[in-house]
Amino acid sequence: MADCIFCKIVKGEIPCAKVYEDDAVLAFDDIHPMAPVHVIIIPKKHIATLMDVDANHTEVMGQLIAVAQSVAKIKNVAAGGFRAVVNCNADGGQVVFHLHMHLLGGRKLDDQLG
Ligand code: 5GP
Ligand code: ZN
Repeated sequence: MADCIFCKIVKGEIPCAKVYEDDAVLAFDDIHPMAPVHVIIIPKKHIATLMDVDANHTEVMGQLIAVAQSVAKIKNVAAGGFRAVVNCNADGGQVVFHLHMHLLGGRKLDDQLG
């Protein structure tokens, strides 16, 4: 996707503070962190929203979860706890239409989700 911000980050056209990278997944610090730890985890291949995930994406969805675990360890929030969030479409608060998981931690998060 030529005009997708996160595809540009994958291609190195926009810089990011990389936390983790492998062949299929990239994780980087959010540019506007909502918590001491706020990492964005994305599949390198463009998928617009959670509703666009299908049976062809089973492997990469599993890889996203595995990378969330790795990022939690890298950022030292695995034991203390964290929140993993995927916003979907307008009411879900999705702004960037390239599927991503937010990993938030480093402070006690609010009880309410939204
Ligand atoms: P959404 O609301 O779509 O779930 O979240 C998009 C997230 O991407 C926001 O938290 C926003 O701060 C982050 N973001 C948007 N553009 C950039 C960017 O160019 N670099 C980084 N590191 N994060 C970005
Ligand atoms: Zn994209």
